[in-house]
Amino acid sequence: MATTLVWDYLNEYRDEREDILDAVETVFSSGRLVLGESVSSFEREFAEYHGTAHCVGVDNGTNAVALGLRALGVGPGDEVITVSNTAAPTVVAIDAVGATPVFVDVDESTYLMDTGQVADAITDRTRCLLPVHLYGQCVDMQPLRRLADTHGLVVLEDCAQAHGARAAGTVAGSMGDAAAFSFYPTKVLGAYGDGGAVLTGRDDVDAALRRLRYYGMEKTYYVVETPGHNSRLDEVQAEILRRKLVRLDDYIARRQAIADRYAAGLADSGLVLPTVADGNSHVYYLYVVRHPRRDDILEALAGHDIRLNVSYPWPVHTMKGFAHLGYGTGSLPVTERLSGEIFSLPMYPSLPADTQDRVIDALRSVLASL
Ligand SMILES: *Cc1c(COP(=O)(O)O)cnc(C)c1O
Repeated sequence: MATTLVWDYLNEYRDEREDILDAVETVFSSGRLVLGESVSSFEREFAEYHGTAHCVGVDNGTNAVALGLRALGVGPGDEVITVSNTAAPTVVAIDAVGATPVFVDVDESTYLMDTGQVADAITDRTRCLLPVHLYGQCVDMQPLRRLADTHGLVVLEDCAQAHGARAAGTVAGSMGDAAAFSFYPTKVLGAYGDGGAVLTGRDDVDAALRRLRYYGMEKTYYVVETPGHNSRLDEVQAEILRRKLVRLDDYIARRQAIADRYAAGLADSGLVLPTVADGNSHVYYLYVVRHPRRDDILEALAGHDIRLNVSYPWPVHTMKGFAHLGYGTGSLPVTERLSGEIFSLPMYPSLPADTQDRVIDALRSVLASL
């Protein structure tokens, strides 16, 4: 029996192989390998999916956050309020533009930004609120929008884990001044390599993003006014993403069905299962459960040849690279407690039912013998 992992794309590739290879062929035979028809078509289709005016394809999610910040005018000396309970790249991107990350703690039940703590974190250097729709569920954006309007701040959504997630019917990525997406292969909409995008409803931000991803130039062989980056979305990945975007709602429905099966199979098992906030549609990028004896459980599961991940075992504020920010242990108690208790169950649209059953059965037996 093969080792069971949190994520695997090979079943999906088997099902979609012809379409994926046709996407590659389409680009290779198009005569244009960089910023061609596939990138512009994907940008139009991804914007349409969200009902936003603009989408700019970039090379990965980290640079989507960084370029999003720069395009919104965030830079050195500015403070950006976010969470430490996130993937490190959220914070790496803030650092990359020279801004200072400021952390608030997360809600004990959803593990998302505790929006009640944001007002107290605002200073006269605060420029941006950066909520992360973690694990596939939207942060409550209304209090953030109100604070941003009151204090003259911009809002950048980190949607890297939340393609197609909704809050009260509104889709993630359409609620801020801009929104950053990753198409890293594991994500809810994943490429066959790296990719990212920024959505925005603002014409000025769209124009800034197009320059920033292209050295800082308006068009080819033109002048640079503000030096930018080379952060273009690859043409092949864009064509693959177009093929997969039409299946996004189906991928999400399959993730939700898998989540329902976990919830049924693990009810009363002693694990804390994910909480979905009122009005939210969770897309389950990750299915994160919680137990005080997490490490013992993971070790016992490894004995069943089931290897699970922790997202994330080290809160960003406790990492060596961010020690200079001055957040000591104990400064974000909920985030720190979670990091010792959470773990992720296998979750991807093509997860076979019998593999999922094996995970549920193994977990139930491990939990019963703790
Ligand atoms: C994956 C991820 C990113 C970074 O995306 P890359 O494409 O890997 O650079 C940023 N933020 C969050 C929350 C993520 O999960």
